[in-house]
Amino acid sequence: MSETIFSKIINREIKADIVHEDDQCLAFRDVNPQAPMHILVIPKKPIDMLSNADDDDQTLLGHLLLTARNIAADEGYGDAFRLVMNNGEAVGQTVFHLHVHVLGGRDFTWPPG
Ligand code: 5GP
Repeated sequence: MSETIFSKIINREIKADIVHEDDQCLAFRDVNPQAPMHILVIPKKPIDMLSNADDDDQTLLGHLLLTARNIAADEGYGDAFRLVMNNGEAVGQTVFHLHVHVLGGRDFTWPPG
């Protein structure tokens, strides 16, 4: 997988407002927030999109979800948050390093646009 802006954030080549880091993942505030809470949770392992994740990534992917849950709770939105993962350019993915958007703090509509 080629280098992306997110791998540069992992390597501290680009600054980000980091809210969580552990051995498997990093979480930081989105530079263009779409809600009062808008945090991205990314694996340190370079996976470009969910389509290309391996079955062996099951534990890692679960870790991303539970980390997102914990961050939402830490931010005060534990009972009302939305997770989004865009998979593919056609549905809005712009950075090809897998990431979970963690959004909260405003009203959301359904279905999403
Ligand atoms: P996608 O459209 O791929 O699902 O989401 C990519 C997200 O990354 C967007 O919400 C965008 O605002 C965010 N983003 C892009 N570049 C940067 C950056 O350099 N720093 C941070 N913190 N977020 C970024």
